[in-house]
Amino acid sequence: MAISKVKIEDGCVLCGLCESICPDVFRLGDETAAVIPGADLEENRDCIQEAADSCPVEIIKIF
Ligand code: SF4
Repeated sequence: MAISKVKIEDGCVLCGLCESICPDVFRLGDETAAVIPGADLEENRDCIQEAADSCPVEIIKIF
């Protein structure tokens, strides 16, 4: 199934895992991680899934 959207919900603890697992899609900000605008979601689908599975607070949602 194609990924149409990736969303990070509230509650990020800035662990850095998503950015290190999938650096072309996720960036750490000062208060939360964010999805990089224009990131290629299809190209990165495997690491997006891995990041979502690895997030300790389970706030990375894939649509
Ligand atoms: S893996 Fe989850 S908690 Fe860690 S920086 Fe990314 S969104 Fe935040």
